[in-house]
Amino acid sequence: MAERSPETEYPIKAYGWAARDSSGHLSPFNFSRRETGKEDVRVKVLYCGICDTDFNMMKNIWETAVYPMVPGHEIVGEVTEVGNKVKKVKIGDKVGVGCIVGACHSCENCVNDLENYCPEMIFTYNSIHLDGKITYGGFSDHVVVNEHYILRIPNNVPLDSLPPLLCAGITVYSPLKYFGLGKVGKHVGIVGLGGLGHLAVKFAKAMGAQVTVISTSPSKKTEALECLGADAFLVSHDADQLEFAAETMDGVIDTVSAAHSLAPYFSLLKLRGRLVLLGAPATPLEIHPPLEIHPYSLYDGRKTIVGSYIGGIKETEEMIDFAAKYNIKADVEIVPIDYVNIATERVAKSDVKYRFVIDVGNTLAVTKP
Ligand code: NAP
Ligand code: ZN
Ligand code: ZN
Repeated sequence: MAERSPETEYPIKAYGWAARDSSGHLSPFNFSRRETGKEDVRVKVLYCGICDTDFNMMKNIWETAVYPMVPGHEIVGEVTEVGNKVKKVKIGDKVGVGCIVGACHSCENCVNDLENYCPEMIFTYNSIHLDGKITYGGFSDHVVVNEHYILRIPNNVPLDSLPPLLCAGITVYSPLKYFGLGKVGKHVGIVGLGGLGHLAVKFAKAMGAQVTVISTSPSKKTEALECLGADAFLVSHDADQLEFAAETMDGVIDTVSAAHSLAPYFSLLKLRGRLVLLGAPATPLEIHPPLEIHPYSLYDGRKTIVGSYIGGIKETEEMIDFAAKYNIKADVEIVPIDYVNIATERVAKSDVKYRFVIDVGNTLAVTKP
């Protein structure tokens, strides 16, 4: 790749925090953004969530990192400039930007509003944009995004708890809908009570499903039942508890962020039950332990194991509207940007209830050297 000059490659100055190497340590970073094109929207970043994926990207766990890297793909902000062809939003609107900022718009998946499965999908950061330059994310003062990828936000939605919906929220909402699990009369198990998991509980309950949390952490039981509204709680290493719930679930949504055995979850599924995998273990892809599944666990009960990957723009807006209607909010800890290195280490230890959100709007500018 040709040498990059982040500070001068575009005409508009930008400032954020970037990782420079696989230590993942973030520090102040001057760079630049493109001018607002005809179909572009410039957004002043107010809040940005920290996803488990950010930690793995910054540390180059999946060996795809390009440094300097400005992470952040759960962005909420205010429109400050629009191109002359933009119809979707106007200056002053509060909007979101999630994981995707580009796709081909012509493949079968794009035509069906599934940009998240487009082979040319462009991620909000650490991805190559149409002009060949690397994308930078929301740990920064502003972003410039084609209007198609701008997410509209209904009025009166609290902005500080919204960012996690734009990655964690859509990642759980999409399979709940697509696999017909988020419905009255369905029983769903949610494995892993973290950023994704706690939103999965809230969405599945709002959709009318019966929800059981399956967790490695007995200490999360009270919160799962009393605060998040789950109907039941199982400790995943307690064989008796799993046995008690055998063959009761229509689906299990696995959000665990580490390599782990899937065997216990098949026995929880009823006939035709589905195990939906969402987690991306912090292990280099080529040494990731293969999934070892005895075929018997699948054919006894005609069970299916599937994956699901974030969601398209249309479905993400539908999810935001659903969350507003049912008052679904992420549980967040709001932190200043200069806490981000501690926060990402805490994310790796699942030491947050349940998502960090950086108050970029109020805390970034003062860190500028
Ligand atoms: P998170 O907040 O850290 O939550 C993950 C949860 O997994 C933890 O709270 C913990 O729950 C459980 N867990 C952690 N380590 C474990 C271990 N060694 N064994 C068993 N359980 C363990 O992470 P997140 O932000 O929700 O993200 C979850 C995963 O989804 C990550 O791998 C992330 O990269 C991935 N992701 C995927 C997509 C997609 O499109 N598919 C999108 C976004 C994120 P308990 O304490 O309850 O056991
Ligand atoms: Zn994410
Ligand atoms: Zn496409």
